[in-house]
Amino acid sequence: MNQDFVPIGQYVKSNRNPFLITGPCSAETEEQVLETCLPLKALGASVLRAGVWKPRTRPNSFEGHGEKALPWVMKAKEQTGLPVAIEVATPAHVELALKYGVDIVWIGARTTVNPFSVQDIADALRGTDMPVWIKNPVNPDLALWIGAIERVHGAGINKIAVIHRGFSTNESRYRNAPMWQLALALKTEMPNLPIIGDPSHMGGKRAYLAELSQKFLDLNYDGLMIESHCNPDEAWSDAAQQLTPQALHHLLNDLHIRIGRQDINDHSFQDELGTLRQKIDSLDKEFIELLRLRMNLVEQVCDYKIANNVAIFQTERWNDIFKSRTEWAEKLQINPAFVEEIYKLIYIESIRKHHEKIA
Ligand code: PEP
Ligand code: MN
Repeated sequence: MNQDFVPIGQYVKSNRNPFLITGPCSAETEEQVLETCLPLKALGASVLRAGVWKPRTRPNSFEGHGEKALPWVMKAKEQTGLPVAIEVATPAHVELALKYGVDIVWIGARTTVNPFSVQDIADALRGTDMPVWIKNPVNPDLALWIGAIERVHGAGINKIAVIHRGFSTNESRYRNAPMWQLALALKTEMPNLPIIGDPSHMGGKRAYLAELSQKFLDLNYDGLMIESHCNPDEAWSDAAQQLTPQALHHLLNDLHIRIGRQDINDHSFQDELGTLRQKIDSLDKEFIELLRLRMNLVEQVCDYKIANNVAIFQTERWNDIFKSRTEWAEKLQINPAFVEEIYKLIYIESIRKHHEKIA
């Protein structure tokens, strides 16, 4: 299945590096859509976005104008010559997107969580050539995200990309926790699947947009989806995270583009990368050999405890381990929280070993 994803660049002309999808969170009025979108063309947008149907967490928030707003979006397309993308959440939305000539649809985070809704959308798209971008589900469940990709792909769509907008947890300073490991796990499973970063919904505040956009670029994402509004403070949805086109222009100019796409195919770059990767491979091998040696010692401790009838779990010992290892990490400029996580896993494995021995 992985072979068949069409790179975004094959169906959308890229006007800038990074590939940029931008536009308002919601289409509020015809004037607002046009006033926002015309300057976005000038700063190099490749695709315009606007929410026509807005699935909101709470009722009594603005839920979009629906069909009434589609002619405004199509007017923005006409006046800029750029393709337009909207969110769809039901088969009726898909039919209207097709009827009006929308170029790309995306499935929102609140819809990706529901396999029935995703299947209904996929069925409505069957037989069309519509590109479909799938946002990660609200909850951090990789299988649900993959399931949505499989459902859309199963309906014969191969212009698929995913949008990483973060996950709902209360353990992040951002509106939605990035949980980079989930997006990277998805890329490992489906290396040809294009991935777009959405710093707006991830960050939730204008102040976080630049650092998140940079992070997406550093991780070599294929593009960015950033919300823009002609008058963000007065926006009917997501006011805190939208940027004027002018502020977006500054943000883009300050981004550091470390690797041009063409450089990836450059031979000296590949050689250098190959050498570095070999070094990493050999260090990792050593790392695993060290783990083996450590595990041998743990097993000896186990045998000793069993032979002497000593309690197996000694909290103080583990408290000492967590304390000293994180201190060592800090001295070597390694994130102590990261080392603590590693030791939590080692701890769990040691307990499992103990149980295995007693059983
Ligand atoms: C949006 O893109 O405007 C939106 C509602 O996003 P999400 O589905 O990521 O919350
Ligand atoms: Mn939004």
